[in-house]
Amino acid sequence: MGNSNSRGSNCWEPNSPPHSHVTPSDKIVPAAQNDYNINVQPVEKKPAALICIALYDYETRTDGDLAFQTDDLLEILEKSDTDWWRARNKISGMEGYIPSNYVAPLKSVEAEPWYFGKIPRIDAEKLLLQTVNKDGSFLIRESESALNDYSLSIRFNQEVRHYRVKQTLVNDETVYYVNRRRTFLTLQLLIEHYSGNAEGLVIPLSKPCCKKAIGAPLTSTLSYDTYDNWEISRSSLKFERLLGQGQFGQVHQGLWNGRVPVAIKSLKTGTMSPKDFLAEAQLMKQIQHDKLIRLYAVCTTQEPIYIVTELMKNGSLLDYLRGNKGRHAKLEKLNDYAIQIATGMAYLESQNYIHRDLAARNVLVGQKGAIVKIADFGLARVIIEEEYEARAGAKFPLKWTAPEALNYGKFTIKSDVWSFGILLSELITYGQIPYPGMSNIEVMQQIEMNYRMPMPDKCPLSWYLIMLKTWDYDPMKRPTFDALKSMFEDLLFNDGHNYKETNEIF
Ligand code: AMP
Repeated sequence: MGNSNSRGSNCWEPNSPPHSHVTPSDKIVPAAQNDYNINVQPVEKKPAALICIALYDYETRTDGDLAFQTDDLLEILEKSDTDWWRARNKISGMEGYIPSNYVAPLKSVEAEPWYFGKIPRIDAEKLLLQTVNKDGSFLIRESESALNDYSLSIRFNQEVRHYRVKQTLVNDETVYYVNRRRTFLTLQLLIEHYSGNAEGLVIPLSKPCCKKAIGAPLTSTLSYDTYDNWEISRSSLKFERLLGQGQFGQVHQGLWNGRVPVAIKSLKTGTMSPKDFLAEAQLMKQIQHDKLIRLYAVCTTQEPIYIVTELMKNGSLLDYLRGNKGRHAKLEKLNDYAIQIATGMAYLESQNYIHRDLAARNVLVGQKGAIVKIADFGLARVIIEEEYEARAGAKFPLKWTAPEALNYGKFTIKSDVWSFGILLSELITYGQIPYPGMSNIEVMQQIEMNYRMPMPDKCPLSWYLIMLKTWDYDPMKRPTFDALKSMFEDLLFNDGHNYKETNEIF
């Protein structure tokens, strides 16, 4: 959830000056008008301070930032950039930098316990169906389909109902409504009204949906001073334990500045040129989305290069699916993973960025196995030729690669779509190697002769039909990731395997 909401009039714009009720006539005491005719210097009336409330706890990570706890009041002193602001804790009096996505202006919509910001409908359902919530539990979220509108999601009878909350202008004032006949000046008033009163809703609103499961958001950078200086010193990293051995080096769990848990990837010497890697990493840094692993910092001044990223507790999706936890995952869960991965890829698609190595081994699983995120996007481009591009070599992920990428090196978002289809086969087979029993060369030859992977065991026909669409020989005939996301959402909602009550926390 961010504060970058520019919706209704009761939402505060983070880039606008702090709230101020100053009018031009307030500003100056005109000398001629004061009683004693003394030459009084014009006095600037101070704009009202912007006070925010903390939505989560925050512990200090580095000198200069400020710790706070949920519900602490913080006075914003300076909005240094959009992600880190200088603030004073109204309780302790201490000053320092705070992550702006951990706070919301006091009395704003974002500060309300029922406001969940930009979460997808599917996540709203998962949250509301946790056992801690009861009939009438509700939340407000930004509508996915209609810009500027909101959605009200309410739990009823172990299902979730969704209502559109629209806004319109009446006499130059924004009003909100579920039913056009009753409008409200603020979302807060709307919620208050329907709290005692179903008036067309399936049930009156009771308690806001429990927010605990969401947890604090990621900060955009490790700290306020690593945005521009994201080359960090090696000594700020502590290696704790080996997480895995990838094709290009080891990955460790570690701590940055002794406090922030991170994953540290050490690239084998000679895997890529530090200069090329830095250029690519500059791009990767700007690509930020919930479904993509956050790239935090790098160490490139000497070999081995370190890439410091968000830590994902359950490692790679491939290992997870093959292991004890993943191999019992139900179809709904696999379908949900497919949606999450398609969502991340749809974002890359919208940014005209290509992954080039989409596969279950490059998707990571978070705590409790509920969240998956895409890793290693963009890296394939900078890997030194002999290592990676020897097409017939054992290391090249030939079974995941679209024919035009194999034949002419033509990597596009559509070759990523092909790889996504292969990833679907990995999901539905709990991590089997694609095209079982076939060698790389055989696969390459057979694809040219119009052969496609047969339908895996226990794969629903609906899934297989989608896979076949992603393997159209003509890249332009393959669906977009946005369409793939919708296809899997439709399967979840229309195929009768809807979410049941769950106490799963994610
Ligand atoms: P890779 O070099 O990306 O193939 O990573 C090798 C292994 O390290 C993966 O299979 C994961 O088990 C683990 N790993 C990589 N990145 C992370 C991360 N950000 N969080 C947790 N584990 C990771």
